[in-house]
This record gives sequence, structure tokens and C-alpha cells, in this order.
Amino acid sequence: MGENTTSAVLHRTLHREFPRIASGSGHYLTLEDGRKIFDASGGAAVACIGHGDARVHEAIVQQLSKVSYCSTSFYTTGVCEQLCQELVDSTHGAMKRAYIVGSGSEAMEAAMKLSRQYFLEKRPSEPKRTRFIARENSYHGTTLGSLSMGGHVSRRAKFEPMLLGCVSKVSRCFPFRDRLAQETDEIYIQRLAIELDEEFQRVGPETVCAFVAEPVVGAALGCVPAIPGYLKAMKSVCDKHGALLILDEVMCGMGRTGKMHAWEHDGVAPDLQTIGKCLGGGYQPIAGVLIGSKVVDALTQGSGSFVHGHTYQGHPIACAAALEVQRIVREEKLIQNAAVMGELLSSKLNELLASHPNVGSIRGRGLFWGIEFVSDKTTKAPFPSSDHIAERVSELGLTAPYSIAVYPGAGTVDGINGDHIIVSPPYNITADDVEKIAVTIQKLVHDYFASKD
Ligand code: PLP
Repeated sequence: MGENTTSAVLHRTLHREFPRIASGSGHYLTLEDGRKIFDASGGAAVACIGHGDARVHEAIVQQLSKVSYCSTSFYTTGVCEQLCQELVDSTHGAMKRAYIVGSGSEAMEAAMKLSRQYFLEKRPSEPKRTRFIARENSYHGTTLGSLSMGGHVSRRAKFEPMLLGCVSKVSRCFPFRDRLAQETDEIYIQRLAIELDEEFQRVGPETVCAFVAEPVVGAALGCVPAIPGYLKAMKSVCDKHGALLILDEVMCGMGRTGKMHAWEHDGVAPDLQTIGKCLGGGYQPIAGVLIGSKVVDALTQGSGSFVHGHTYQGHPIACAAALEVQRIVREEKLIQNAAVMGELLSSKLNELLASHPNVGSIRGRGLFWGIEFVSDKTTKAPFPSSDHIAERVSELGLTAPYSIAVYPGAGTVDGINGDHIIVSPPYNITADDVEKIAVTIQKLVHDYFASKD
């Protein structure tokens, strides 16, 4: 503890040690002292089939006994090919190829470079296409390219001078805070579409590679789905200016929202789609990019290769784990279960928490729910960021008698102020689990605010 800690955890604080997990099984993580924590967030919405699945363990061991690594500069493997084929098939023709990397940030970097290369190959007459338009209060990753695309204020702040100048931002789609009182959904969407169009005009449409968005904003806002019609409207602005649409489904994709791909809710397939967390369910580090035919064909007919590559891309062990996770999700109809349990979770959270004076909004889709805290329900005023409300709620959650993991986040008002917690349990939860999650969170939120000075 204290200043002499040598903990491996650096990114939340260097000043204390974190609870140590000894094992994980099903919905539970077990601490070294033996206490069990109900993992209601699956880390950061990762553990989609829960922990310690023996079938995934076996698939990894089997792959290890065949080959653990080979360089994708020279070879491919059956598992990687099969995974990519299944991912392409899951889009019902919307995507033509898949590309496997190790993290969501790497996937975003690849998507950026694929966009740039698309224009070089397809439209050599438009070499000026080097810019991106992304959104405020989104999160796209932590490497410098993906961080440049993101609008997560606190994660960007210290690195601002090092971030790419080729990304500009437009407003988020966040009705709870940003839709004007007199605005309908249609008029709000129209306002955002006009803003995007004006941003294209401002930077010069001939300079823009792509518009980038999360269909459901995860870490930066706490599970805020785009309102119906929004993605369609944004896509037509992109089409008008000949730019690509990149959808970042690293957190909200692969079944999390109750459909395989979050864009299916809106019927708008992107040109490039990034996936991550629930692809491998946490059993291995794995993410990917799904690539539409427009981009694939341009590269195929152009230079014939994507100028990119990581030592561990297409890693066979990670692919074997993801293939097995996806087999389980498919054969056990877990996405259908996520949709049904998601409806139940929504109604339980609303029933038990909506009237709490410090709960401002409960929003989400499928098994991806955010609860935003306010100091005043009428004005929606946040607590001061120095109170670290979401962090404190989630820390209290880990203690007995709650013993539940929820994922904290901040910045919903202006990127700094405004707290939320994310509830994103595994897809195989039952109605009893949903009840347990909602009742425990109700008690946690009630007790936290009751004891807050
Ligand atoms: N994109 C989104 C929407 C994310 O939520 C995340 C991570 O939380 C990333 C990208 C980056 O993924 P990774 O942390 O695997 O690099």
C-alpha cells in the first residue's frame, strides 16, 4: 500500500494497490481472500459469456498443441481464416473482409489507414483526403491516432499537443442533455446533420476521408444509443461528400446490444467497422476491422495490399478463443437472450432506480446500460468532478455486502463533469440474475448517496 507500492496497475492510480482476483467462474470473480464479486460489467463490457468457460479453455489448449504463432507476413492459419469468414458472414453481405488485430485501439488505427489508402487507390485525383470528422465525448482508443479521433476529454488532456491535427469534431447525439425542449427527434437529427454538413464545408469536403462514430457511446458517455434515424442521416451527409463511414463497435458490437452488430438496429452498414471486446469475450486479447466491398475492391484493383501490419495480428491462439466464444454465443442463442434479458434489465433498473433523486437518466440497449447521476434531478446539474461519484459508487460496490462490479465513467456533461456507471453483464444471464443485479445496484446507489455528506 501507499507510496512504496509496486503494483502493476498504473492507469487509475499509482498510489494504492487494487483488489487481487484469484479466479473467475461464470458470473463471478473471486478475490484472493475468497470473497466473490458478481461481475455485472464484465470488466469494460468484455466478458460476454462469463469467466472460466471450460470449452474456450479446451479450444485454446487444442490450438496451442497445433501451432501457437506464425507470422502473418508469410502465412495464415485455418483458425484465422475461419474466424474472418464467420465475421464476414455475420454481416449478411455488408462486409467483404475481416482483419484481426490485438486491441480496439489497433483496430481504429487500421481503420484510419484503410480509409486513407482507399482514397489513394480509388481516387488518385483526390490526394488531399487526409482528414477525419469524429464526435465530441466519444472514445476510440488510447494510441495517439485513436486518441486523436476520440473526444474523451480527460484521457486526451495531457497529450493534446501530440494529437493528430487531421481530426475535427462535431456534436455528440445525446438527447438527455443536448436535445432542446421544443425539438422532436427528427428536428434534433436534422440539426446534427446540418452541423456535420457544415463541418465538411468548413474543412473542405475534398479533404475528408471519413466520419467516425460509436453507434452506442460507451466509456465516454455511459451507453448512449444514437436515436433512430441518426446514423442514416449522418450516412447521407457522408455520401453527399463522397466520404466513408466508420462505425466503432469495439464496445457496443458483437451482440452486446441484442443484435450481432449495433448498426443493424438502424439498418445502416458502415464502410469500415471496428470490433473488439465481445469478439473474444476476454479469453484472449483480440479485435478486428470489418471492411466493406468498396474499400476491399479499391485495394484489390489498386496496389493490391494494405500497407500495415503488427507482429501479433491474426494470432492463432486469440483466433481459436474467439472462434469458440462465437460458437457458444451462436449455438446457445445468447444474442437472443441478451435482447430478452436486456428488456428485463431495462424495466427493472427503471422500476427500482428511476425515481432516486440522484439518478438523472437510465439509458442503453440490449445488455449495455448506463446510469447517470445528478446532484439535482430537475436541472440535471452534475456533482463536482472532484467528488469522483462514479468511482466511489463502483468502489463501494466491490465491498461486502454488495460485492458487485459496475464500470464507472465521468464526463457526460462537458467531458469532465457528470458521472455514470455502466452495467454490461454476460449474455447468458437469467431473469434471476437480472433481479439480483437491479436490486443490488438499487441498494448500492441508495446507500452511497444516503451516506454521502
Ligand atoms: N473503441 C471503443 C468504442 C472502446 O470502448 C474502446 C475501449 O474501451 C476502444 C475503441 C479501444 O479498445 P482497446 O482498449 O482494446 O484498445
